[in-house]
Amino acid sequence: MNPRIHYTKPSITALEIEYATDAAANGWGNRCYDYIVRFEEAFKAHLGVQYAIATSSCTGALHMGMAALGIGPGDEVILADTNWIASAAPIVHLGATPVFVDILPDSWCLDPAQVEHAITPHTKAILAVHLYGNLCAMDKLLAIGAKHGIPIIEDAAEAIGSVFHGKRAGSLGKFGAFSFHGTKTLTTGEGGLFVTNDAALYEHVLTLSNHGRTRRQTRQFWPDMVGFKYKMSNIQAAIGCAQLERIEELVSRKREILAYYKGELEKLPGVTLNPEPPDTINGAWMPTAVFDRALGITGKALQSAFAADNIDARVFFHPLSSLPMFKPVPGNVVAQDIPARAINLPSYHDIIGRN
Ligand SMILES: *Cc1c(COP(=O)(O)O)cnc(C)c1O
Repeated sequence: MNPRIHYTKPSITALEIEYATDAAANGWGNRCYDYIVRFEEAFKAHLGVQYAIATSSCTGALHMGMAALGIGPGDEVILADTNWIASAAPIVHLGATPVFVDILPDSWCLDPAQVEHAITPHTKAILAVHLYGNLCAMDKLLAIGAKHGIPIIEDAAEAIGSVFHGKRAGSLGKFGAFSFHGTKTLTTGEGGLFVTNDAALYEHVLTLSNHGRTRRQTRQFWPDMVGFKYKMSNIQAAIGCAQLERIEELVSRKREILAYYKGELEKLPGVTLNPEPPDTINGAWMPTAVFDRALGITGKALQSAFAADNIDARVFFHPLSSLPMFKPVPGNVVAQDIPARAINLPSYHDIIGRN
């Protein structure tokens, strides 16, 4: 049998091991936050934002950010139907309603025209998820948000390395959220980050992230509000610091792999992969191929052909509205149409091709 080709895998070097070992040996007592602070500072510099809070997951970062925006029962948050459940779950946890809109056929991200159409007096936020590293139409979304007085939130879990008109994904909206899950371009095993340029929002989320204790509170064990416990550990942050020092290398390798797939597959008629429109950079987290219907190629058939050759691959996200806990949205035709004729392709740092 050929050696396994995974679909993603972290790139861990001596540097990650060195920092994690140091954190495990020495990162306690008055040094128990050293790597966390260092990771937050380095990430702020990388992204070009003013504030960052390391979290245990992207889901947690989204949950706290949305809570701080006051999203709750009766409110609506608009997002693309094509998404992983993690983007929608915090909305549901807060008692609000996710409103699923259709995607654009080329970026597979939410369609701004559909977003504007879906706005009601209950709309509290628009959640822009940069799917597979592909960028949402941020200029249009920000304009819609400004026009209606609705904040744009960026779920940049899949978009580290992606740049929109000179600004990094996650730095353009009211706040951004990142994931450092083991499948992501930069990993801490599990982990996430909340980022914003809004000082008041940062203070609020910082308090929430600290079980509701404000920075100014001097009384011990005295929460000022009910908060959350979504913290990153110092050991995870140590791995994150090493990964962040290697971020250019990590992203450029992902881009190299996507470019290879695009070069080989887009030669064939009717095959398209992740786009990279002018004045943007695609961080290339997940190379994804979509096949014209006329080709009759299905993701399912490809997955079994790959499996027979010991190659892992993943299906394109199902529309969230097709899941049992949500109401169907028959009008989201693009989100319903693409998954059957698409596939996520393997991409990781030390992937080796076979002849
Ligand atoms: C991975 C991912 C998440 C969830 O991240 P966690 O760190 O596992 O909570 C959220 N949104 C998107 C778009 C993701 O890809």
